[in-house]
Amino acid sequence: MAEILKTEALVLRKINFGDSSNIGSFYSRDLGKISAIIKGARSPKSKMGKIADVLNRVEIVIYKKESREVQLISQIDLVSHYPSIKDDLDKLKYASAILELINEFVLENETNDKLYRGTTKILDMINANSQPLFLFSKYFIFFINQIGFEIEFEKCQSCEKQLNGKTKVGFNYEAGFYCPECSNDHLISFEFSAELFELLICLSSKRNDCSLNDNYLKKIVIFLEKFLIYHMPEFKGLQSLKMF
Ligand SMILES: [Zn+2]
Repeated sequence: MAEILKTEALVLRKINFGDSSNIGSFYSRDLGKISAIIKGARSPKSKMGKIADVLNRVEIVIYKKESREVQLISQIDLVSHYPSIKDDLDKLKYASAILELINEFVLENETNDKLYRGTTKILDMINANSQPLFLFSKYFIFFINQIGFEIEFEKCQSCEKQLNGKTKVGFNYEAGFYCPECSNDHLISFEFSAELFELLICLSSKRNDCSLNDNYLKKIVIFLEKFLIYHMPEFKGLQSLKMF
């Protein structure tokens, strides 16, 4: 039995298939991450082939058979092609890193409405605003929470003292944050100055008044990358951030 399904999706990847087709990898709102064939996509006359470009937000109609690993696409319409991201190398770098996170960590066919909405919202914001590194850092924390590795910022993991961004703290990949006193007695994998920790707390909140500093933001991105590598050793870090 086959069914016809319509869903919104982001194009994550596109590879050649056969003489004239593509296989697209999509992150969709209603079906999670899926792969599907776009027949004839490489023909110069194919409209669908052009619309199914990496990073585009599209609406797809899928002819879905449970027994098939790769589904068939019967229609694609464009929702947004994020022109301002594609025109700006810095924006493109961070938008590509977002797609890379989805590619690496989201399981096939696993739906998460909050993650889908958060992802399209941040791409809309990167497209419209001028702070891609700041927006990506916020997204990275949100993403880590959504895939189930919540980082607790509020209290010391040993003595349970409140941590507030007024003192330096230490982080252990296994246990979490330690206050300055407890940091002396535990293995510390990453040290945070008071300012760096305050920025991390601000990024993880809904506040929009974080005092931004590119060097600090880059340090936080490196910290989050190392945190993921520690928990998922097969992950080799975000290639998009090295490529640009
Ligand atoms: Zn403590």
